[in-house]
Amino acid sequence: MKISILLFIFSLSHLSAQTTKSIMAEVQLDSLVSSVEELTGEKPSDNFGTIPNRNTSSGRTSAFMYLEQRLKDYGIESKIDNYRTVGYNVVGTQKGTKYPDSLFIICAHYDSVDDFCADDNASGTSAVLEAARVLSQYKFDYTIVYALWDEEEGGLIGSSNYARAANRNGDKIAGVLNMDMIGYDGNGDFLFEVHIGNTPKNDRMANKVAEVLDKSNFKLEQSVQIPGTNRSDHASFWAYNYPAILVTEGFFNDDFNPAYHSSDDKLSLMRLEYYHQISQLVIGTMSELAVLSNPTSVESSFDITFDVYPNPTTDIIYLKKKANIEINDISIYNMTGSAQLTTLPSINITKVDVANLPSGFYLLIVNTEDKLYSKTFIKL
Ligand SMILES: [Zn+2]
Repeated sequence: MKISILLFIFSLSHLSAQTTKSIMAEVQLDSLVSSVEELTGEKPSDNFGTIPNRNTSSGRTSAFMYLEQRLKDYGIESKIDNYRTVGYNVVGTQKGTKYPDSLFIICAHYDSVDDFCADDNASGTSAVLEAARVLSQYKFDYTIVYALWDEEEGGLIGSSNYARAANRNGDKIAGVLNMDMIGYDGNGDFLFEVHIGNTPKNDRMANKVAEVLDKSNFKLEQSVQIPGTNRSDHASFWAYNYPAILVTEGFFNDDFNPAYHSSDDKLSLMRLEYYHQISQLVIGTMSELAVLSNPTSVESSFDITFDVYPNPTTDIIYLKKKANIEINDISIYNMTGSAQLTTLPSINITKVDVANLPSGFYLLIVNTEDKLYSKTFIKL
């Protein structure tokens, strides 16, 4: 008995330490690239066909409709904020469980100055979509806002309108993570920049980026810029003293996309491994800032709630509900804390096939709306 409790606690601490890493591992380059291709019109999208040049009103209309649909596809409550006759921000909200009124915003501008404009800024826009895809599968203490700004190129008009309205409403914005041009690395040094402005409260966000980078094995090298540029949407939030940072390629480090603001700014110029790692880093950072709502409590009431049999088992393990409780999913972890399989519940008795697992101790974790229940079992 004693040994199984020790193993259980060991595994739980392992699980939480691994969370940021596993969230970052879920960020898929294929998914990022596919969004860039659709936004730039290099590939037609399923629902909206080929998106025209995002410097035209038909292109921006297709783009904002496409973006709103993508957020909705992930179950995120989304709307188009038509802040003026020709201006359309797309704003998706994932409510926080503990501090629903405090927002962390992950954002990018989707408008352009020419055809394609893959790096500027389909790259950042697609990273926001990927953040939505990955993070919408989790719950966070703070609210996450996924924002895609219009009219950045016209002078930060979309984001300024949002920030002004937020300030007027007294919205609590805990931090803004803006991405603009995150795909070009001409010299292959994997250097990227974090622009933090002059206010000390942005240090916390920049430090968080560095901390998450430390946990990874990315090739990326962080270069902090103080005060940094005000030529992108984070500056709209600086104007109202909200914490905000910009993540971008080597803008001040002589490694800036040579096809900037031209129709040569295409996916083929981007360094995909670099783009992937920056996206992973930003999404991992956002998951730590917004604080994963951890339903973990060492749950001793497993046996009142469930039956697990046979234990030990050779091939199948059955989980039977003894209480009326809603199960999200059932996972099996080995004793080093790595997930072996996850399955969805059946109505009363769920059958889990463990025939392919090597012999040993395992944890069966039942994930419900507000708790993790866990039980050790032996596979013979
Ligand atoms: Zn831009």
